[in-house]
Amino acid sequence: KTYYTSKNNWFAKPNVVKGVDDVSFKVYEGETVGLVGESGSGKSTIGRTILGLEKATAGEIWYNGVNLLTLNNSQRKKYRQEIQLIFQDPYSSLNPSMKVGEAILEPMIRHGVLASNSKRKEYIYQLLEKVGLEKEHYNRYPHEFSGGQRQRIGIARALALQPKLIICDESVSALDVSVQAQVLNLLNKLKKEFEFTYLFISHDLSIVKFMSDQLIVLNQGKIEEIGDADAIYNQPQKAYTKALIHAIP
Ligand code: ATP
Ligand code: MG
Repeated sequence: KTYYTSKNNWFAKPNVVKGVDDVSFKVYEGETVGLVGESGSGKSTIGRTILGLEKATAGEIWYNGVNLLTLNNSQRKKYRQEIQLIFQDPYSSLNPSMKVGEAILEPMIRHGVLASNSKRKEYIYQLLEKVGLEKEHYNRYPHEFSGGQRQRIGIARALALQPKLIICDESVSALDVSVQAQVLNLLNKLKKEFEFTYLFISHDLSIVKFMSDQLIVLNQGKIEEIGDADAIYNQPQKAYTKALIHAIP
């Protein structure tokens, strides 16, 4: 926060929080990399920085040979399409007065995915079926769906743009356990079908481990442990990681 009063021209020094510090990792195409850590450990900040929603003060983010941090807004547009975010409750991002089909259509129009309206509509029908919803849901409104179904709408909306990298930030955290499993299985199924790459974020190590090839354990903005997901889960080297494993119910 910066406090400013024009009266005496007084500034308080901004309260600088280093959300992420000295974090370096690689994500290979087709891989799922899990980011796990306690609340406030910097998981979302990493995701949001990759997406360009948060400005990095230092460092580099290389994506297919391009340092994303050097791009201006118009250069970034292509990557906004290729890198999609699925977050906790899509309800907050779904316009309540917009039909489901329109909500999926909107980013497609913005990014020019498919030209003709009839092709788009047919494509959205296919997407709805792929995420376990029905054609008929096209004309329904977000409030008519359960949390798990809304998450499926959010997934369809992300898929519509034919992304290459999907960042899932606590994508199943708001759902109860049986619905969590359904959505996780859906994400895995889609990954096999579309061969995209996931950055999978959750505070819950059991979920991250289920999804990930590689695991990054974050603690207060720094990497605590990084490596093969099974290896870290079965033989954690750090007390912090052990505590995360013990926290699994
Ligand atoms: P959670 O599991 O609760 O979602 P997280 O691991 O995603 O936590 P971040 O949201 O990345 O954590 O936060 C990392 C650190 O950065 C925290 O100390 C947080 O308070 C701080 N932070 C996050 N966003 C902002 C912001 N917009 N302004 C200032 N500080 C922020
Ligand atoms: Mg977060």
